[in-house]
Amino acid sequence: MKILFGGLTKAHDTLISFALSGLGYEAIPLPTPDNESLRLGKEYCNKGQCNPTYYTVGNLIKFLLSVKEENPEEEYVFVTAGACGPCRFGMYEMEYRKALKEAGFPRFRVFAFEQSKAFFESAQLAGIKLDREFFKSLIKAIVLGDLLNDIYYKTKPYEIQKGETDNWREESLFILGEALKERKGLRKALSRVREKLRSVKVNYLVPKPKVKITGEFFAQTTEGDANYRLASWLVEEGAEPVVEPVSTWIDYLIFKREIDTKERAFKDRLGALKTLAGLLALKLYLRAVYNAYRFLLGNKPDPLKSQKKLAKYAQPYYSPKLAGGEGHMEVGKHVYAKKHKLAHLVVSVKPFGCMPSTQSDGVQQKVSKDLGGSLFVSVETSGDAEANVKSRILMKLYEAKLLAREEFERAKKELNINEERIKSAKPVSADTRLPRRYTTTASNALLLLK
Ligand code: SF4
Repeated sequence: MKILFGGLTKAHDTLISFALSGLGYEAIPLPTPDNESLRLGKEYCNKGQCNPTYYTVGNLIKFLLSVKEENPEEEYVFVTAGACGPCRFGMYEMEYRKALKEAGFPRFRVFAFEQSKAFFESAQLAGIKLDREFFKSLIKAIVLGDLLNDIYYKTKPYEIQKGETDNWREESLFILGEALKERKGLRKALSRVREKLRSVKVNYLVPKPKVKITGEFFAQTTEGDANYRLASWLVEEGAEPVVEPVSTWIDYLIFKREIDTKERAFKDRLGALKTLAGLLALKLYLRAVYNAYRFLLGNKPDPLKSQKKLAKYAQPYYSPKLAGGEGHMEVGKHVYAKKHKLAHLVVSVKPFGCMPSTQSDGVQQKVSKDLGGSLFVSVETSGDAEANVKSRILMKLYEAKLLAREEFERAKKELNINEERIKSAKPVSADTRLPRRYTTTASNALLLLK
């Protein structure tokens, strides 16, 4: 039996497939959802669903139709994330079942991750053992995907030899994937990845605006038509995208569950204590893995954000007790990006009509004002509004470019570095970790010339 899954970035999906094969499963990542997936999703799902439903359900149906001759109802199962939140995310599983039935696959098995005994039992019956090793391998693969993506977008905009960063990512995925599959040698594999990064040469001394991508989880994470390939398009437009690790989402789910458990602790104190202990262990494990791998990559990727800090930043505008979608995190990340000099511009991307994200947008103007006029733009994706979305972002990107250049000029004066010194500077290795004084990468790179 083969396990189908997908919906994250290419790096995550590839590494998860290696990690699961190390546990003895044949795991196949589905291709990145495209507009054909959206069309199929709209054809077979109920009307009025959110885009992520259409894209992910349609993507699965597209694959099943392509392997129709192989008896996919017996040969494959699909594993995805499930939830029972107040937004429409809670209806995904039902939509999968309805659409699969209408597309001619009524007996196809879908497993949506949730913390219920029934889910664990039915997965067991299908031959998927959801034990500690399974979740540890999954977390390792996700964290490694996060760290590779972080480095990739810090490097790609500044590469001297076009395509070198892409080659580095391909090779790194294979090196790390093999280590995950063998279930040993990750430390060595990470040193090899770092070594290979050292041979990629970059010119950081070109001021480019940093653009933080936030918004609804699927829309901000996917790398395909569902967000018009936002991150790679920003690179083409001369910006440096700042992408969010999937680990932040896992950390948020733990944080949210902690809040809910504490709120309901009066009903069953012992049960609440046990749940909180389990959540603490999971949180510590996630952070330990993240920090250890980050360290082995020379601390080049950003650290994982503190959930407490995100909640504190969001609190005056959006209650951390409100559930659904990214909850308070969209507001928290906007404040974080400005306060920690992470980006010049924040782009919040959401599927058309996303309820929690629209709620956040309601306060983002006030957040911008309170932050002294931070640059923020929110865009809705519907599969057919690419020109509109991109032109709205371009307007703000122009302002962000001016900010980056202004800051670079100011930094030159502050550090007393002239144009000649900049022109004579040699390219540096992409594994160089820059000091963090300014927002712009080029301004921070000036500190190396001092
Ligand atoms: S977060 Fe938004 S897009 Fe995602 S399920 Fe909820 S309403 Fe739909």
